[in-house]
Amino acid sequence: MTNRQDGPTDGASSGVDARSDLEARWAALATRRSPDVPDGPAATLLNRVMVYTQASRIELVRPFLDRQRSGLVIAGVNPRKGIQLDLASRDRDVVFMIDPAVYDGKDVEGKEKYTATCDAPFRVPEGRLWSVSLGDVLDEQLEAGAATALTPSGFIATIDVLKAAVEKFKQLKHSNAMLVVPLHISLLGPRYFSQTLAVLQHLEGPVALALGRQGDPLDQNKQIIPNLRTLAATIPLMPIRTDFNALDLVAHGAFAGAIGTGGSLRHAIDPTEKPFAFSKNPSPSVLIPELACFWKGSKIAEEFGARPGATPRCFCTVCSAQNPGGQRLSRFLSRDDQEEAIVHAIAVWSTWARDILDAPTIRDRAIYWRKRCKDAVDHHTIFSRLLNRLEEFKPQSPVEAWATLPAWPTDVVANA
Ligand SMILES: [Zn+2]
Repeated sequence: MTNRQDGPTDGASSGVDARSDLEARWAALATRRSPDVPDGPAATLLNRVMVYTQASRIELVRPFLDRQRSGLVIAGVNPRKGIQLDLASRDRDVVFMIDPAVYDGKDVEGKEKYTATCDAPFRVPEGRLWSVSLGDVLDEQLEAGAATALTPSGFIATIDVLKAAVEKFKQLKHSNAMLVVPLHISLLGPRYFSQTLAVLQHLEGPVALALGRQGDPLDQNKQIIPNLRTLAATIPLMPIRTDFNALDLVAHGAFAGAIGTGGSLRHAIDPTEKPFAFSKNPSPSVLIPELACFWKGSKIAEEFGARPGATPRCFCTVCSAQNPGGQRLSRFLSRDDQEEAIVHAIAVWSTWARDILDAPTIRDRAIYWRKRCKDAVDHHTIFSRLLNRLEEFKPQSPVEAWATLPAWPTDVVANA
């Protein structure tokens, strides 16, 4: 059973009570081994950091899934096609879910991305011979073997739409489903956060969070990241498309998380976001363990071109499979290298996830993650000096925020 009574009871009642409730919540979480077990079958997901990917990548990533600490969230497939049935029958120990992901256009009917409205926060398939309800969409996922069903939520840009999604989902009283909340980043900013928190607390059930891309300014991240942590400490939260926030949040009380295998799967695509210019660069994005960020393979090869011996060498299970001495990361140059880049990234962050999940307490999880990010920030300087760069490589702003914010939120209060 979920035990959330010690959290704030009303996020809207800002002030001393809400703040001291939250402080008590942080104090309680700090010494615990694991977050609360969420209500219902979502309990199966507790303490997992899963891989979020497309159906076409299932076979690729399956050998790299940690059966105890991971699993699959499969984006935007039609459960009736039987792909998951195959997965379930052949590999019963892989825990998986299906995200209809209508919010980013990779949905079952192949239509454009869907923005939620107050009247229709969820999109159900049209054009079938019989009418399909929200409950049917969820049941189809369960029949396909999913651990818990995920709602076909549209992208949520306002508090009113968030309220409507929560109300509709509550009315359904489905016993084995999780509300997917693909939120515009502004709903986690200072203006709306207390309302967002109150609405999600009102749900009284687990929430799967997807976020539009976090903007780059460090100031913005220094506001949003603490709010995300408050969310993780207050409601049963599973960040499914939030980049490496999944790790930061699992280190601050989220019961589970997921990390995407491609740039577009690592966060939700905000319909108002300008699409990135089409890149003709065929090299894949490569996770550089030392920097805790992804660079294009061609950028790694270029930057370290003059000092090949200084090119980062990786010892993950993928990179050391062919060479026990590991391999350099300058080797990912063509489209054909994409699959290897994907499994290299999973192998690398899975070790971070394992270290986080196996830490003695949740506070220890947070201390580990902050240190990893601090090391990543420092390595930007180390690499810059190795390469004699006039202008230092700049860490990505969330990594910088994770490295510089106090590991445990109550430390802020203590230092204030
Ligand atoms: Zn590797």
